Amino acid sequence: MATVTDSSISRATIHEDTVVPACKPWSARIKKGDMLRLVDLEGRQAVDFLCYNAAHPAERYNAANTLKLNKNIYLGKGSTLWSVRARKMMTIVEDTCGSHDTLYGCCSIEVDEVRFGKTNTQSCQSNFETELAKHGLGEKDIAANINFFMYVPVETDGAVAIAEGLSKPGDYVDLRAEMDLLVVISNCPERDNLAAGYEPTPIRAIVYSPG
Ligand SMILES: [Zn+2]
Repeated sequence: MATVTDSSISRATIHEDTVVPACKPWSARIKKGDMLRLVDLEGRQAVDFLCYNAAHPAERYNAANTLKLNKNIYLGKGSTLWSVRARKMMTIVEDTCGSHDTLYGCCSIEVDEVRFGKTNTQSCQSNFETELAKHGLGEKDIAANINFFMYVPVETDGAVAIAEGLSKPGDYVDLRAEMDLLVVISNCPERDNLAAGYEPTPIRAIVYSPG
């Protein structure tokens, strides 16, 4: 396991420190002001991510508001995750990778059949559904998600595709909760494109109060 070397977390109160196995989902409730660190332990591992207002889950991460209010299609240090009600949900306060995807959404068994002609048995869509069910949410609650540690460059003619990931082993993002949140992750199980470098790997999720 990669070690957390940033000094800010050593003084912090760690509420949860979990290695999310390859291909698996994870979720947590995070209080306003607390932090979530996502660590790409082995590099080039897409982390599909959604968040919801813990008290009113109909208010949730909204990709279009996030693009228009950050004035950028990529997320990095200083970016805000905005809700469908145009309120701040999370702020990226540290980022050692540098670029994260807002456009490409998640993999599903159905889209993999269309684009690869394969009937896969795992997907981020099914992971999200499984994890959201633990919180009384489901298929209707899945919005266009963030892909941390995934690189999707857009060409001037609008051409878009997943490129080789930029993240190195141990790269991380620190996100500060700007409201009480439910966060849900699918550690992407895709083996048919570069989202997980053709070989899904574990990631680490740490929920902590800053020191
Ligand atoms: Zn996926």
